[in-house]
Amino acid sequence: MRPITRTATATTPRRPEGGPAGEVAPAQPPAFFDPSRWGRAAGDVWSGTWLDRDALERRAHQRLCALLRFARVHVPLYRRLHRGLPPASAATLAELPVLRKSHVMADLPASLSAVGLSRGAIEEFIADPARIGRPLAGRYAVWTSSGSTGVPGVFVHDGDALAVYDALELLRFRGLSSAPVPAGPLLASERYAMVAAIEGHFAGIATVERLRRTFPLLAPWVRAFSVLQPLKDLVRQLNEYRPTLLAAYPTVAELLADEQRAGRLHLSLDELWCGGESLSAATRAQVAREFGCRVREAYGASEFLSIAWPCRLDRLHVNADWVVLEGVDARGRPVPPGEPSHTTLLTNLANRTQPLIRYDLGDSITVLPAPCPCGSQMPAIVVQGRSDDVLTLAGRHGLPVKLLPLALETVLEEEGRVSDFQLLQTGQRQLLLRLGRAGRARADAARAVLRAYLQRLDLPGVRVQLDAAPPCREPCSGKLRRVVNAARAAARG
Ligand SMILES: [Zn+2]
Repeated sequence: MRPITRTATATTPRRPEGGPAGEVAPAQPPAFFDPSRWGRAAGDVWSGTWLDRDALERRAHQRLCALLRFARVHVPLYRRLHRGLPPASAATLAELPVLRKSHVMADLPASLSAVGLSRGAIEEFIADPARIGRPLAGRYAVWTSSGSTGVPGVFVHDGDALAVYDALELLRFRGLSSAPVPAGPLLASERYAMVAAIEGHFAGIATVERLRRTFPLLAPWVRAFSVLQPLKDLVRQLNEYRPTLLAAYPTVAELLADEQRAGRLHLSLDELWCGGESLSAATRAQVAREFGCRVREAYGASEFLSIAWPCRLDRLHVNADWVVLEGVDARGRPVPPGEPSHTTLLTNLANRTQPLIRYDLGDSITVLPAPCPCGSQMPAIVVQGRSDDVLTLAGRHGLPVKLLPLALETVLEEEGRVSDFQLLQTGQRQLLLRLGRAGRARADAARAVLRAYLQRLDLPGVRVQLDAAPPCREPCSGKLRRVVNAARAAARG
């Protein structure tokens, strides 16, 4: 899906600092799309694919030092957070403070190196769906996310960062760097479909729309479909479009696999890509069986679009030359390989417009202790991402209707304007909505948008009650599961 105009063949880093712009103070932020910088990023990613572990670490360390120097001069948030700390060249990542989404969102302009981007301008941009995939101020991509913590986030990326994300997607995820024979299907014969939440400035749809605008010739072969619509409409649209590549959340892929088995969906896929939620072995096997194709896991976020890619053995390898992941326990101490982390700290080495250094991502990862037999030197991980429940409610004549957590969350966030919530299914026709303190003032609006959504799905008999209790975290993991089947939750303990 990720197109490319040219690939450079350099095998050595061009700049001693190894940073996206190299210099500490770029005179002008990079353009939204610049073919020469895009080609340079592709050359860098191509050469990085073949580095051994020591060389990878050296390259990442050089980038980190350059990023630290830059951020401490040009980003007010880091001038404050890193005051009194050792100089960039002597700093080790583990000694630096953790950055939380609340730090970023408390003073969004202070998290940016871009001068003149006000919170008002950013909010006006993300309030306008017509601008999805277009640049803010002609230069910046802006992506929003709720994440699993219930705090909405806004992330601003520059053209250099986008060029790196595109190159990582094309050369590593798609395997085009394994020349001369690409591992993935040829670009020319593909029809790519993404089934996702497309009604906001989310990283996925914003990327699809950006690529459609940048490369208009590809636009007919790259399309996005909304998960908010009734399933029968989605099935009809997919049958008409006939994609060969499909990207979806695992819960969506599972639902579509049911439709394929029932004979209502007739897709002939080369590959199916899953991301955004935990992909269990059972789901992977079921989806692969129904579609008769390879299922590949992707791991990305609004904070860094392409964190890890699946090798030919379907293990996820971190793009360690451009993003650093640290698995830590509940007290912030490093977790050894082989053990799941409580959370993960992400350092984005590609983006200088909004540097994220030791940013708390909220996901749990396990770094695999043994080298991967595929030969890649990049660390292999297992991600325990979001794992909300698919709800099955009783529709007309008692027929079951499945509701996707992604769709319910999008309705509550985008239409109901609440982010700190938990929705429980307590019966075949009964939902219970819990809201945090901030969301309680919007309780009526949240219930109204949920009811309207249920009407659209032809579920008029389902009741939505408000619970006096706030959202409740899992007793063991401390994670907030936002869409919950209460019976299943009780069985999980
Ligand atoms: Zn591997």
